[in-house]
Amino acid sequence: MENLEHTLDVARLVIGLLATVVVLGFAAKRVLWLTKLISSGQKLGDERGRKDDLARRFLNQNKEVFAQSKLLKWSIPGIAHFFTMWGFFVLASVYLEAYGVLFDPKFAIPFVGHWAVLGFLQDFFALAVLAGIIVFAIIRLTKNPDTIGRESRFYGSHNGGAWEILIMIFLVILTYAIFRGAAVNVLGEHFPYQNGAFFSDGMAALLAPLGHTANVWIETIALLAHIGVMLVFLLIVLHSKHLHIGLAPINVTFKRLPDGLGPLLPMEYQGEPIDFDDPAEDAVFGRGRIEDFTWKANLDMSTCTECGRCQSQCPAWNTGKPLSPKLVMMNLRDHLFAKAPYIIEGKPMPEAGSVDFATLGDSLHGHGVPEDGFARIEGSGPEQALRPLVGTAEQGGVIDPDVLWSCTNCGACVEQCPVDIEHIDHIVDMRRYQVMVESEFPGELGVLFKNLELKGNPGARTPKNAPPGSTSWTSTSRSTAKTWTVSRGSSTCSGWAAPGRMRTAPKRPPRPSLNCSPPPG
Ligand code: SF4
Ligand code: SF4
Repeated sequence: MENLEHTLDVARLVIGLLATVVVLGFAAKRVLWLTKLISSGQKLGDERGRKDDLARRFLNQNKEVFAQSKLLKWSIPGIAHFFTMWGFFVLASVYLEAYGVLFDPKFAIPFVGHWAVLGFLQDFFALAVLAGIIVFAIIRLTKNPDTIGRESRFYGSHNGGAWEILIMIFLVILTYAIFRGAAVNVLGEHFPYQNGAFFSDGMAALLAPLGHTANVWIETIALLAHIGVMLVFLLIVLHSKHLHIGLAPINVTFKRLPDGLGPLLPMEYQGEPIDFDDPAEDAVFGRGRIEDFTWKANLDMSTCTECGRCQSQCPAWNTGKPLSPKLVMMNLRDHLFAKAPYIIEGKPMPEAGSVDFATLGDSLHGHGVPEDGFARIEGSGPEQALRPLVGTAEQGGVIDPDVLWSCTNCGACVEQCPVDIEHIDHIVDMRRYQVMVESEFPGELGVLFKNLELKGNPGARTPKNAPPGSTSWTSTSRSTAKTWTVSRGSSTCSGWAAPGRMRTAPKRPPRPSLNCSPPPG
């Protein structure tokens, strides 16, 4: 028996370490690739502003990530997520023990490794995580987009991937339970938790009738399986929407303060606000390619969990429009990742005009969603590199114009998003490019732009017929632009327009601008 135990101890040490080294190598490569891709975005205009006020950012991160303040607004899934997340923090101590056991079967964490409280918490959270994934499974089944269609907040999400993760979490708990039960039987008085580990003791009672030799084998196999599941889980997380596990704290830290619902950001190019009187020769107005977005936008895209909370609250989506803020973020992310070889790996860009998008058709509707623009063209071929960021199905666009112009800028998506994605900034930036560079916008906006052009305000009003309730209304002429400001109640909106330049060619600055600020304080 001693020989068998010794042989198994050596075998599991070799297998466990080897698998860990190989997987960590792949994981590190992926992390470097993701870091390079996300940071390939443009600088932010308020680069320093996103990194100052660290105490406030730290507190906010604790509130949103550790206390789950946004997720808990939805009580049942919020509580399930709370226990699942904290379960993983506590169960990290079990993985520490698992690696220790590879080297020494009687390993215990220094100082706290024999505390009954820790043994209890490990077992309690293992069961809490199990309860959490059962709740998630029930929510997924009752909100199945295959049966309730657009009413489901998961409509358009990678639902297969979500089930894959739930199964992986279940396997983590299953292997934990078997490993711990067998360990109690094999180690006896050397098991670290003589009290408190109630679930492990229960599993031990179930496995005890199989005999000592069987428990020795079971402990070794379950230990390796427990480590193996974690390693596979790590790779899945790094290649799926579950990237949010690592990215959400970072995204929350660099959010706009107090939130992304403040005034629109100025139009920026390479981290500097554009001077409309004298724009740089190569300045890009808004975002016309995926490479034009900032690193924070890239981070937003990569952090989306596909939870669909934004979609469920979006007035456009709920009134049958094609816009889903979730699908916008997913489509941008999928396009960014598919175009990565051209952005960060040095793959040469195909010649402009070398792809005939009209011949590609629009048969590829990934996620089974007609509004899904990314899936019109998949893979990293030349079509992916050259497709327009905004365009119809025939043009191979990533975001459909109907999607882009359905947004009311109401902010419900930003308010709901548990990982603080700033949808409106990205939607507005894409619109800016469409208006100012492409001169592509819905016909209904023609009157508004004309009024801005000729009267300097969107309603063709003059100072004499300022809207009731306005406390000030000005319209002044400069050499190339008119500006206006209107205050109503405690809010102020101002704008300016460059007359005669509304429908000009790329790189010329027609640039109407509208900026509304909330009341001070
Ligand atoms: S801001 Fe736009 S995308 Fe977001 S919820 Fe409102 S309408 Fe939908
Ligand atoms: S609420 Fe945020 S994380 Fe959830 S789907 Fe929308 S953008 Fe993604």
